[in-house]
Amino acid sequence: MSFLLALFAFWLGGAPAWAATVERIDVRPDRIVIRFDGVVAQASTFALDGPQRIALDVDGARPGGRVDSDGLVDGIRQAARGDGGARIVFDLAAPAIVTEGKFGRNGHELTLMLRTVDDARFARAAAEGRMRFLPPFNYGSGVTPAVYRVSTPVPLASRKLALPRVYGDDDTRPLVVIDAGHGGVDPGAISPDSGLREKDVTLKIARSIRDELVASGRVRVALTREDDKYLILQERYGIARKLKADLFISIHCDSVGGGSASGATVYTLSEVASDKESARLAARENKADIIQGVNLASTPVDISSILIDLTQRETMNASANFARVLGREAKPLMPIKPNFHRMASLVVLKAPDMPSILFETGYISNPVDAAFIDSRDGRAAIAQSVRRAVDIHFARRMASR
Ligand code: ZN
Repeated sequence: MSFLLALFAFWLGGAPAWAATVERIDVRPDRIVIRFDGVVAQASTFALDGPQRIALDVDGARPGGRVDSDGLVDGIRQAARGDGGARIVFDLAAPAIVTEGKFGRNGHELTLMLRTVDDARFARAAAEGRMRFLPPFNYGSGVTPAVYRVSTPVPLASRKLALPRVYGDDDTRPLVVIDAGHGGVDPGAISPDSGLREKDVTLKIARSIRDELVASGRVRVALTREDDKYLILQERYGIARKLKADLFISIHCDSVGGGSASGATVYTLSEVASDKESARLAARENKADIIQGVNLASTPVDISSILIDLTQRETMNASANFARVLGREAKPLMPIKPNFHRMASLVVLKAPDMPSILFETGYISNPVDAAFIDSRDGRAAIAQSVRRAVDIHFARRMASR
């Protein structure tokens, strides 16, 4: 009787914890095969950069099993995860991405196809979020299941875009939208010394820039967020596009493991990162949409297939020109990197019709930089640099008409 009750509880309770155990993990040069002793609920993979790893989350499986590796992997780590799941992390010896995954053998086996790639492609994959795989529905029916694969984005947080206040009364003036990076549940980078959070620093800087630009009287200004609020990346440029902004400036602070890197950098959009560091930065900043493993973007972020058409090319040129002017104006006022203007596939810069830059104002991981960008003087220098560049940008645009 107690056995029957337990069985009922099993069915009523939905997916049981530990329905299956990882039996064996086989790493081959072109694939990873994971065998389970039962059917699992679902699996998903994602790439992680710095160091390069592939993570596999399996719902309904207990970690364990024999590992056999003859592939691109340096090490394999397994751990229990959540309520009845397992996480398996593959430390990669060389950059490789999962191109496809499928369940076979009545849902007892998952095969992930691998492709070796370069660092830039890996960084893009790391920014893309999860691939999901479901076991076949007809397992246990006696019929050999067809190979079955589903890749879907995680459910999204859909909400209405609340448009922010526009500062400045003259509607004939161009509109600049300042985007304070991160916010709410996403703190951004955190200073290892002081605990200073990127989301707080960027908001204060955004407000300083707003005040400086409004005082100039030459442009109107809006902020994507005026308080400690979480916005997905698409909402940030979405707000600016809805307001028909003429220029979009996303404010961030850089961060690296070591504390010695310093100076500001500006990024504009490109399909391919200008260097390794830019690719890493893009991977990091693009992850703002993936909080605690949940993808909050309304559509899956796919910047690997970013299509830059001709209209966008014009916008990209305008963005690059503004970036250069900003570099020139900032140089006498604040510490900037020698290689100031860089390119990367940053989601927040993806609006096709609005010049956009991402301004990394300094390194929050460097105590000197952090003190500067979080000081009144630092903010004033940043705001002045932007105001001068904005003046020149729109004066040139007027002149060319
Ligand atoms: Zn950031």
